[in-house]
Amino acid sequence: MNAPEPIVLIRQHLIDPEVCIRCNTCEETCPVDAITHDDRNYVVDPDICNACNACISPCPTGSIDHWRTMPKAAAYSLEAQFSWDELPVQEEVVGEAEAGAAAAAAGGTPEENDVIEAVQVNAATSGSSSRPPWSAAHPYLNLYMIKNAVTATVAGNFRLTAADAESDIRHIVLDFGTQFFPVLEGQSIGIIPPGSDANGKPHYLRMYSVASPRDGEREGYNNLSLTVKRVMESPDGQAIKGVGSNYLCDLQKGDTVRVTGPFGASFLMPNHTGANLLMICTGTGSAPMRAMTEHHRRLVAKGHPQAGKLMLFFGARKPEELPYFGPLRKLPADFIDQHLAFSRVPGQPRTYVQDRIRAAGPKVASLLSGDTYVYLCGLKGMEAGVIEALRECCTAAGMDWNTLHTKMVEEGRFHVETY
Ligand code: NAP
Repeated sequence: MNAPEPIVLIRQHLIDPEVCIRCNTCEETCPVDAITHDDRNYVVDPDICNACNACISPCPTGSIDHWRTMPKAAAYSLEAQFSWDELPVQEEVVGEAEAGAAAAAAGGTPEENDVIEAVQVNAATSGSSSRPPWSAAHPYLNLYMIKNAVTATVAGNFRLTAADAESDIRHIVLDFGTQFFPVLEGQSIGIIPPGSDANGKPHYLRMYSVASPRDGEREGYNNLSLTVKRVMESPDGQAIKGVGSNYLCDLQKGDTVRVTGPFGASFLMPNHTGANLLMICTGTGSAPMRAMTEHHRRLVAKGHPQAGKLMLFFGARKPEELPYFGPLRKLPADFIDQHLAFSRVPGQPRTYVQDRIRAAGPKVASLLSGDTYVYLCGLKGMEAGVIEALRECCTAAGMDWNTLHTKMVEEGRFHVETY
């Protein structure tokens, strides 16, 4: 009699549709093109994914990091994954016990044994830290998801850009009343727009960085702020009306909003005195930089010694389109060293943050050689240019960028959040 075929188990990689913000980072990162999407869900092809983990750390929400032990023959198909509104629970897998027993008999765990298909797990190769600074406060994570979303009340919605400016960027304050919703600078929250999409499915959540410090937009209040740009065209110039941004930008004081989160365990600021912050952002990517700067400002105002330096590179089309331009200009130079880059001021050359970084080369290199934490947030397109500019600053100062960058990433000192 033939022995029964062994059941081959795999760790199937899945993406949580309830948390995913559809930013495409995983699909761009995947080195083997195992990730794809339709107009709703991002999915992983079990026949291609080699569990290399390259997509895990770049994902801004953690929705990417879900795994189910499955018989290979019954792995969830792409069609099944496209239809999901939530992840299936881990089923008890027939054969898992047998696989475990066989593995134990062979002196290994099921995952070490070849009953479970071998997967190669490479160290994540991303250029961004997956761990927070060593002294960061411990964040609360995922307290509220779609099923138990918390309701916040709009306490204010203010236009940040000039009335005649091209872009409509808003500062939106959400109040949580007596509900528990603790956030740290650098964390994000999810907003669930009401209604449904073209397929009749409820809108998925949209994620926004918190723009206020941990003790509230108004100090001592249980509120927070967001920086939201009304999206009226796609990156390639097609007219579209962004669901989440238009919903938020149209909110009136007193309206209620369903909120999930908080999200984000690594893009956090150090808590120790003496840490320097090098903040580089474009447009609404300034939200976490505002939060971190304001936290520092409040500490200094209370007499806390400011031993570390703050250096900011901030790009916008024009001064009138740079969120928080007025308040930022009022901060003294010995508190924060500001370098603003404007790309569309008539009669002036187009300047990007990377140009300003190059121009401040020796200062940047000197900061990077110290106890410095780098934060990069905003347009995906700026990432390569900024890295190149940082490399040039280091090379000119006789420092090896690759070595420094790798060390900073490992030490939780280099954080990137770009979409
Ligand atoms: P934007 O107004 O389109 O651009 C800001 C500035 O960046 C402009 O001066 C732009 O120049 C410049 N820029 C364009 N390409 C660049 C490149 N390759 N290198 C350097 N600078 C470049 O910005 P936005 O619409 O506010 O977008 C901000 C981004 O931040 C969005 O992708 C958003 O998703 C992301 N973000 C937002 C939040 C939030 O909480 N709201 C949080 C994290 C990230 P030109 O356009 O003149 O070329």
